[in-house]
Amino acid sequence: TGRVVQPPIMPGWDGYDIRGRLARAFAEHAGTDRCARVPVLVDNDANLMAYGEQRTGYPDCSAFALVKVSTGIGAGMVVGGAVYRGVDGGAGDIGHIRVGADAPCRCGSYGCLAAVASGGAVARRLAEAGVRAASGSDVRDLLTAGHPEAMALAREAGRQVGDVLATVVTLLNPGVLMIAGDLAGTPFLTGVRELLYQRALPRSTAHLDVVTSRLGERAALVGAGALVVEHLYAPERAEERLAALGV
Ligand SMILES: [Zn+2]
Repeated sequence: TGRVVQPPIMPGWDGYDIRGRLARAFAEHAGTDRCARVPVLVDNDANLMAYGEQRTGYPDCSAFALVKVSTGIGAGMVVGGAVYRGVDGGAGDIGHIRVGADAPCRCGSYGCLAAVASGGAVARRLAEAGVRAASGSDVRDLLTAGHPEAMALAREAGRQVGDVLATVVTLLNPGVLMIAGDLAGTPFLTGVRELLYQRALPRSTAHLDVVTSRLGERAALVGAGALVVEHLYAPERAEERLAALGV
């Protein structure tokens, strides 16, 4: 529907009609009939990243999963070449699975995966230890600089995410599990692998590649571009346009 539905960390956006708002903005500013009909496509970052990475790097992979670990945690899945959204777009919101800890989460609940293993959670622990860090991108900078405490916390966060991913992998049986976002680096990946291979059945991981992002910060843009191309050149829309042109 192009609407945000009960976003765990942005409650004020519940039910907001993003598509309608953007379509009106285009129409107001463009002022021509042609631009007034510009289609608006809406999707979340993890879905678009998964689509961009799968299309460009793993086009033959029929079950592809991407987990984005930045300030929050989210996942996108591309199954049979299409983004898998679930019955109403809620698929992949793994950041608010309860993992048993009592850390308060931005969603209002306690013990969510994002509350203990996201870039935001690692930043908070670092800040408590006197290290200057307020967000996932601060943690990324510390990891790039090889900060020992940040690396140890990232590995521990990877282990916690890996524990949840053992279930994801068992359910989806993907060929590629990609770790993306601010925390995606060697320490985090090591932690993911430690728990994932320990907890998931060998059958589920026999043909699984656990990799890091190839497109980096461009992934969601590449995915959005691919989505636009798919939309515009879908057979029925191409036929419509040709008919309108009298071809
Ligand atoms: Zn939560």
